[in-house]
Amino acid sequence: MEIEKKIKELVEYAKIHLYLCEEDEIYFTNLLLKYFGLEKPYEGEVDTDHLASLPYPDEILEPIKEYLMKEKGLEEGEAERECVYLIGLLSPRPSEVDMVFSSLYENKPESATSYLYDLSIKNNYIAKSKVDKNIIWDAYYEDGSPLEISINLSKPEKNNKDIAKLVKAKASTGYPKCVLCEQNIGFAGHEKHPARENLRFIPLTLDGERWFMQYSPYVYYDRHCIVFHKDHIPMAVNRHILNCLCDFVDAFPHFFIGSNSDLPIVGGSILNHEHFQGGAHLLPLLKAKSKKVFFEKEGLTLSKVDFYDTCLKIEGKKRNEILDLGEKIINKWKTYDDLENEIIHESDGERHSTTTAIIRKENDVYQLFLILRNNRCNEAHPDGIFHAHKEYHHIKHEGIGLIEAAGLFILPPRLVRQCKEVEEALNMGKEEYLEKYPDLIDFERMITLMKNNNWTSREYINDVCKNILKNVAVFKDDSKGNKGLDRFIEAVLDE
Ligand SMILES: [Zn+2]
Repeated sequence: MEIEKKIKELVEYAKIHLYLCEEDEIYFTNLLLKYFGLEKPYEGEVDTDHLASLPYPDEILEPIKEYLMKEKGLEEGEAERECVYLIGLLSPRPSEVDMVFSSLYENKPESATSYLYDLSIKNNYIAKSKVDKNIIWDAYYEDGSPLEISINLSKPEKNNKDIAKLVKAKASTGYPKCVLCEQNIGFAGHEKHPARENLRFIPLTLDGERWFMQYSPYVYYDRHCIVFHKDHIPMAVNRHILNCLCDFVDAFPHFFIGSNSDLPIVGGSILNHEHFQGGAHLLPLLKAKSKKVFFEKEGLTLSKVDFYDTCLKIEGKKRNEILDLGEKIINKWKTYDDLENEIIHESDGERHSTTTAIIRKENDVYQLFLILRNNRCNEAHPDGIFHAHKEYHHIKHEGIGLIEAAGLFILPPRLVRQCKEVEEALNMGKEEYLEKYPDLIDFERMITLMKNNNWTSREYINDVCKNILKNVAVFKDDSKGNKGLDRFIEAVLDE
């Protein structure tokens, strides 16, 4: 391979896909020559039609990565980070991205968010080639809303204990403090921190504060964005946060936005930096119908959503009314006990109850979804009473954050291998399969149910995901749970 030719292809790619100006071509070519220790550029032609057809730059960066490993002696991770540097160098500067975004926004907010999305794919910030490998399917049920299930092949798995440790850990003296800090932009990264030269985000003002919007490098769904606070401050769920969410959907009515809960097990994977997740996709919960209307007056409605976990929905056009009622529910829930339903808001000085809040706008109507959550553990359920119960951990052990609680499951990559092993084990005795595949020790339930019900592994997983959300429900969908929810709503409305 001629590295000079790859450099020329990279610069051409940047001209076609990354808004690199013709006038800057020689300048950047020379910077790259210096970087690689070369004396002059490639003089032949490159196939610009082919470069124009590339959905992402992997085809150019992969040989450069190999060159850096072979010729410069870099480890694979180092070489990958160098490739991020190179594509970041050729991407428009953050201030230019902001200017283009703002001018597109003036005409049409959708074109501004599309611009940032496309740029983030074309400069490999969104690892689209990896994301495209994810396995995704819809799960349908006779007795409830459909769910969406994906096996994520683009991101490593975290467990609850790792996440709990992160919350308690003081912000390290490290720089940047976490992967959501503003200081990531242009950061070179190292073994424990990803390279971010190709990250681009745009500033926002939400409830009078400075926030930023970027896309998730793992895009779990269409235009999966992350909105994060300027400062490294912990997550919270309160009226200010509801105000921020409303400001966001006012500015980007084509996106939903939501805040994870602010506690481990029931929150997302990063609790020490205030952030939201949003996007253009309608998660299953957001499409579910109402099951019971608690009240409806003067255009304001409060209902229970027909979904597996416990979700309340407030709808109306008047923002203040939505916020007033939303705040009341969040605050009441924080200190609410219902022993009959095992709901205890605090033990040993530790808070257990919190809310996952998601908002979207349909025409002029706000829809605020509040999922009631509780992270208490007991002897029977040491990982959480309202968390995936132990018999489902072989499928999903991680915390059930906003995306899952709203019906899109992100399952670990090991399942691809394990499902194949299970299919094979169906025709084997227990001893035989355990000898061949020792980690199927936790899959006995799966093997038995697949045999008994003549299920495929997907049908089994579909059943587990529904059951996990039922575990997450703080008020179960039975007479005891429904009466409990009625009492809670009365307590909210009485105030
Ligand atoms: Zn941070």
